[in-house]
Amino acid sequence: MQVLDQASEPATGASGLPVGLLAPHVSADDCTLSRLSRSGVRLTLHQARSLLRQGQDWDATGTLQRQVDGPTNLPDIWHKEAAWLKPTQLVRAWLAQPGITFQGGARVSALRQIGDQWELLDALGHVLARADRVVLANANGAMPLLETLQTTLPALGIRANQLPAMHGVRGQLSWAMHQGPPDAAFPPFPVNGAGSVIPVVPFEGGAAWFVGSSFQPDSRPPSPDEKNHAANLGRLHKLIPALGQVLAKQFAAGPLNTWKNTRCVTADRLPMVGPLYQADQPSLWICASMGSRGLSFSVLCAELLAARWGAEPLPVDAGLAHALKALRGVAAATENI
Ligand SMILES: Cc1cc2nc3c(=O)[nH]c(=O)nc-3n(C[C@H](O)[C@H](O)[C@H](O)COP(=O)(O)OP(=O)(O)OC[C@H]3O[C@@H](n4cnc5c(N)ncnc54)[C@H](O)[C@@H]3O)c2cc1C
Repeated sequence: MQVLDQASEPATGASGLPVGLLAPHVSADDCTLSRLSRSGVRLTLHQARSLLRQGQDWDATGTLQRQVDGPTNLPDIWHKEAAWLKPTQLVRAWLAQPGITFQGGARVSALRQIGDQWELLDALGHVLARADRVVLANANGAMPLLETLQTTLPALGIRANQLPAMHGVRGQLSWAMHQGPPDAAFPPFPVNGAGSVIPVVPFEGGAAWFVGSSFQPDSRPPSPDEKNHAANLGRLHKLIPALGQVLAKQFAAGPLNTWKNTRCVTADRLPMVGPLYQADQPSLWICASMGSRGLSFSVLCAELLAARWGAEPLPVDAGLAHALKALRGVAAATENI
């Protein structure tokens, strides 16, 4: 069962990321994030091929990564295994699979354990759902829920500092419909490197372009939309100067469409997936902190979770899987968890 505070099935597209980029992370030392992202991209692409309509819900266009932010002019990188994808369509396809119940419009305010069962409570203390096993897959909402546990269930020994520090990073996409055929300055595939451009996506009966995304810590007051649009245009000028010039008029004329949300990020930029306390059969798990790469990491994390529950082979090597464990915070390290 999935319990979510969104009023309707998230797949209606009303509030989810309208379209995102699915591309591997690259680093000179091929760090953990890079290796995990390659595995994750492969798994998500497989889901897209199996469940979605190519050209409508996603497209395996490949992506050009421009190295415009580095100290020197490094060559661009072509990612063949990359795509744009509408996450709400993928969620809709998953929810339509047998054995899944979706309960929307349900904000969980607290968790309580009664015997072997967990109860999910609303703000009035009414039970929204009961389950043997709970996975906190609610991004920045996970910590507040865990804090409700601190007071009611110290017996499990869960402490926030056993988890890596998490913080929110606000982001905003700028987008608009193409009026007629796309301008020749649009590239034929997505480009990323300093922000990103997804040039042509079937949308609302026509085609749309998307330019993103701003970054701003949620510890500061939110910036006005206009400032975020200007930041997106600034990055576009570096990424594809000719397109920046073409779209500058549209940015100036405004208003552009906006989509914004807050990313959930750990200090090491890796998701966390695993049990929240040590036991033979832990019943409280987390799968969160996908950062800016939910499309690359969510399927991989779900596969890891399922493999651990079912004692099946892990989808990545044990060292990489270990890097994602939830109990990797300061206290966990000193206590050798
Ligand atoms: C502007 C922007 C652009 C992005 N572009 C890309 C991209 O191109 N490619 C990419 O891979 N990623 C991108 N991302 C990141 C991506 O959106 C996230 O990685 C992804 O959404 C994380 O998924 P999630 O399900 O873990 O968390 P979320 O999508 O944040 O979902 C968490 C859900 O839990 C619900 N919730 C929270 N607390 C509770 C509660 N107590 N009870 C019930 N429900 C609750 C929330 O309402 C929300 O619906 C972008 C993010 C932003 C902001």
